Amino acid sequence: MNTQKPKLEWWWLIHHGVLAEPLLEPIKNRREFVRAEKLAYEIATRLKWMRKIKHPERLPAKFVQTCADWRKACKNWKKDYGAWQRADTDWRKAFDEHYPAIAALHKQECPGCPFDYENKTLIFPQP
Ligand SMILES: [Zn+2]
Repeated sequence: MNTQKPKLEWWWLIHHGVLAEPLLEPIKNRREFVRAEKLAYEIATRLKWMRKIKHPERLPAKFVQTCADWRKACKNWKKDYGAWQRADTDWRKAFDEHYPAIAALHKQECPGCPFDYENKTLIFPQP
């Protein structure tokens, strides 16, 4: 075990277009933001399907690593914006490369979730 790795908490759909990502701040803050800022007809769907990943150890290792690096770069983005940009590109690339495995885990953990796997976005009810 590498004890230097930051312990990340992983969630499904903190953002409607990002299937899996590590938390950067307490989930409470994001829920409050959604309630205050998002379109009324989207709010219930967003809050309902924003869920903690039960088995983050089953996420692809490369994806997990690039996200951990990105999270670290986020803390320093004002000092080193270039590093942040590279880390941002890397995790998005890893997400695309490992999308089938991430999507398969999501299907297992989140049955009934109105996620559009082709367009990679949560589907909202019509207003
Ligand atoms: Zn889901």
